[in-house]
Amino acid sequence: MPELRKDPVTEGWVIVSTERRKRPTDFPSLPEEEDHAGCPFCPGNEDKTPPEIIAFGRDGGKPNTPGWKVRVVPNKFPALGIEGELDRRGLGMYDLMNGIGAHEVIIETPDHNRHLKDSTVEEIQLVLRAYQQRMEDLLKDPRLRYTLIFKNQGGQAGASLHHPHSQLIATPVTPKKVREELIGSQRYWELKERCVFCDIIRQEQDTGDRIVYENEAFVAFCPFASRFPFEVWILPKKHSPDFHTITTGHIPFLADMLRIVLGKLASALGNPQYNYILHTGPARFARRGYWETIEQDYHWHLEIIPRLTKIAGFEWGTSFYINPTPPEEAASYLREREV
Ligand SMILES: [Zn+2]
Ligand SMILES: [Zn+2]
Ligand SMILES: [Zn+2]
Repeated sequence: MPELRKDPVTEGWVIVSTERRKRPTDFPSLPEEEDHAGCPFCPGNEDKTPPEIIAFGRDGGKPNTPGWKVRVVPNKFPALGIEGELDRRGLGMYDLMNGIGAHEVIIETPDHNRHLKDSTVEEIQLVLRAYQQRMEDLLKDPRLRYTLIFKNQGGQAGASLHHPHSQLIATPVTPKKVREELIGSQRYWELKERCVFCDIIRQEQDTGDRIVYENEAFVAFCPFASRFPFEVWILPKKHSPDFHTITTGHIPFLADMLRIVLGKLASALGNPQYNYILHTGPARFARRGYWETIEQDYHWHLEIIPRLTKIAGFEWGTSFYINPTPPEEAASYLREREV
């Protein structure tokens, strides 16, 4: 029997379809290696990107030269532009504003074929510190309400370049997906005076059957209402609404988490294409008091979504998702994988 499951945060429904059950080997995988000729993210080609914003690891060398370990540059073809004033206006009944925002690329490594799962904890820490620094900096801009960090790995996941990189887009409005989570978290708080994500962590630790991996500071599990096969969420165990406030002491644990979880996914699914997205609290200073309980009710997290199934008409038309792999099965496959 298929099962309908409700996400406790967004209240979206998912159909867990055991009739169409899929095992890890039923999904397509991705070649590991690729030629780096002409890659604008490879060392030596620094002049093929716009001038860098920050770089780590270059010992005293000049900006935009080789020697870096992590490098952040503006996107050459930005979705939103950083220059100008935010101009909100109406067009009859319609609302519009000019496309102010930021679009940056975090080049995770100088090595064209070294993916996060193959990197050391030290190397991943630098990537996380770059996320944190860029987010802190953009949060100071009163025109911007939200900063989303995400990664597209593989062509099906939206990547146009193979060289390991993540992206950041800062927007002048709070994105709808995030708003749904914020509203859901607030609703739960009003009802129970507890953070819904903290409650989810407690329940997942109690039952254990959807847990993928835990370390001292983070927990990874396949959510109860997983929309996609092998969807994994990573959450800090200690309540915190904002990713950028992560302590230096916790960054190594998050790096360990990412390395292990991405390694397990690669090992179970044969190097799948995937997206991950970092959901964190929105900028609050611009509209003081707008999200009054966010410090207590929202909890930042990373959602990893392997791209194994296609989103089709039913999903577009309903926002229902059909998931052919129950999260309990996915978690058990992932737990078993040694990395
Ligand atoms: Zn490259
Ligand atoms: Zn919490
Ligand atoms: Zn989320």
